[in-house]
Amino acid sequence: MTTNLARHAALLSGADMSRTRAEDDVPALTMSDGPNGLAMNLPDWSGKVPATCFPAPAALAATWDVDLVAEVAAAIGREARAAGADVLLGPSINIKRSPLGGRGFEYYSEDPFLTGRIGAAFVAGVQSAGVGACVKHFAVNSQETDRMRVSAEVSERALREIYLAAFEHVVAHAAPAMIMASYNRVNGTYVTQDRRLLTDIPRDEWGFDGAVVSDWGAVDDRVAALRAGLDLEMPGPGEGSLRRILAAVEDDELDASVVVEAADRLRRVATTWGARPASTPDHEEHHRLAVNAAAASVVLLSNDGVLPLAPTGGQIAVIGQLALTPHIQGGGSASAAPTRVDTPLDGLRAVLERPVGFAAGYATDPALQESLVDEAVRVARGSDVAVVFLGPGEGSESEGYDRASLELPAAQLDLLARIREVNERTVVVLVNGGIVLTEPWSDGVGALVEGWLPGQGGGTAIAQVLTGAVNPSGRLAETIPLRLSDTPAFASFPGHGGRVFHGEGIFVGYRGYDRAEREVAFPFGHGLSYTQFAYEDVLVIDDGAQSGDPVIEFTVRNVGAVAGAEVWQVYVRPEPLTEDRPVRTLAAFGKVHLEPGASARLRSTVASRDFARWDERRDGWVVDDGTYALDIGASSRDIRTETTVRRVASGPRTVLDGRSTLREWLTDPSVGTSLVHVAQDADPSGATAGFLANPTILTMIGDLPIERLFDDPSTALGPDLLSRALQHATVHEEQTDGL
Ligand code: BGC
Repeated sequence: MTTNLARHAALLSGADMSRTRAEDDVPALTMSDGPNGLAMNLPDWSGKVPATCFPAPAALAATWDVDLVAEVAAAIGREARAAGADVLLGPSINIKRSPLGGRGFEYYSEDPFLTGRIGAAFVAGVQSAGVGACVKHFAVNSQETDRMRVSAEVSERALREIYLAAFEHVVAHAAPAMIMASYNRVNGTYVTQDRRLLTDIPRDEWGFDGAVVSDWGAVDDRVAALRAGLDLEMPGPGEGSLRRILAAVEDDELDASVVVEAADRLRRVATTWGARPASTPDHEEHHRLAVNAAAASVVLLSNDGVLPLAPTGGQIAVIGQLALTPHIQGGGSASAAPTRVDTPLDGLRAVLERPVGFAAGYATDPALQESLVDEAVRVARGSDVAVVFLGPGEGSESEGYDRASLELPAAQLDLLARIREVNERTVVVLVNGGIVLTEPWSDGVGALVEGWLPGQGGGTAIAQVLTGAVNPSGRLAETIPLRLSDTPAFASFPGHGGRVFHGEGIFVGYRGYDRAEREVAFPFGHGLSYTQFAYEDVLVIDDGAQSGDPVIEFTVRNVGAVAGAEVWQVYVRPEPLTEDRPVRTLAAFGKVHLEPGASARLRSTVASRDFARWDERRDGWVVDDGTYALDIGASSRDIRTETTVRRVASGPRTVLDGRSTLREWLTDPSVGTSLVHVAQDADPSGATAGFLANPTILTMIGDLPIERLFDDPSTALGPDLLSRALQHATVHEEQTDGL
């Protein structure tokens, strides 16, 4: 038995940095990073295996194109498979709580709906190439500061609606091979030791049947982690853990079946994904895909008509070192070794039939700065348009530390101001992963283009967008605020004393800006095109009364002069709005390509769940009875048309007992009237019913736990009356249901 148990326990730690242990008939699994391209370390750690570097996840999400994301992920999967990886450690689907989060470039969005859809597409793509996907970092790993210890203090509602929702969607719809448990604690407990987070919620509620792996080095107490549902500790070899597990079984602290079950889960994953035949990826084709994905991610933030650049004409001045030595990806475990890198300068020179001048404009060495600016001003002065590439640069965004600021470097802003003095037709291209502030310097800039950390094809892609060969169709997956201090998590990020209070609760990202009625620089979902789209004829096809999920139809028409793609968005807005609800929440979206003058009739289903809120007292998803607007438009703040649907109340019932307040009893839709009714019977004097129906009583002592009134001789309130009220409500409901 002991040897047998040791065999099971041995599987629960890795063999080394990236592999699991093999058994006779169970292959070892090789795991590799790579949310934007395979990021596999070379055996001697001298670098990484060359791989196509696709746009950073923040950019991929800005495509709002699930098919394209799946295609990119399948290409990453093929490269992973060819390099011998069985499981890809991605996608990274944490919610961007603060734009200062160091891994913001690696995460998709501030919105869980969008994150869930992009994440599920990514998992499906990777797994279609025969490689298992590992969603990470579960959960509430929203910052790098103190990431290995910090406790995210977060309400159950925010956990469910914001931080777990994307993981839930991905698990339920894409069945990833693995979930990675994050370093941090949630409400005081290490995630790696949290049974509710590792077993009850993902396995029992969502149906996860893969394996849970620790982030590298995240296990604090191996036995507690195993009990919680953490199957695989990484990295290996974990000899100490093996001894502790065996000793815990020996001492009756751990049931042997827990060890066997965890090992069996790993065997299943290893048998499914391990030792599959290698493929030969087509790197040329993957580079083209990297270019297309980067082009689809570009967000045209503003444009006074200076873009697109005509192919012929006077000189174009390309200003900024980033156009020559591009910053294509963020730092840390996600970074890949690109197979090649296209520069924006080469990209523009290849497509423009007009002179293209270049000046670096800024440098890391401040001593050189003044002469670089003079040179840039000289090039820009005689040019038709100045295209200025700005961004915080290498090292500004990485795993391991949070961002110091959302501002562009002062030297770059000075440069821009000088360029604008000599050239009114200025285009700014931003090169960054998490958002940068655009105020106040962007006023009067001819066009502002968010180019992200675009991966190895970014140079060609940006040239395609600037010249109109590709019509921009990216949309912000993250709000650009006016100021850092406007961000909902500002006051509490990144916390102190080992804890970070998520005081903004569910009001993360646009939910927070909307709730506070804050102006923003560019809202969530925003992005322009070189054409315009009109929204027409919205109809409710099915109100969902029968099937549960309302279905709507509307038309999007390209009313401009060139072909383009529109990202349509549907938001749920409760009517009237109550203070505990976000103004709008994204509930459906899609991307439609249209020739000039063409239109498409689009059908969209809004899932019942997207009307729901998490109710902490009722411990479940609850839909409130009432009317909900479905706002349809081109961004969270550019609603073009709307319709409404009604929803009937649903969700678990409130559990009412003596600890519940008088108000909770009286406002419960069915029990409230039953209580007054049985009070009338029990106390014919009418005193109890009168007391309960008195509005002043409710105002004054509505928040009193009802049991504190039991001793008051002036009413008949007591345990007996309460249970009769509950019984009466149940009988009444059954009768009504039967009608
Ligand atoms: C990162 C993970 C990564 C792992 C393995 C950790 O430091 O947080 O995202 O997958 O290392 O490289």
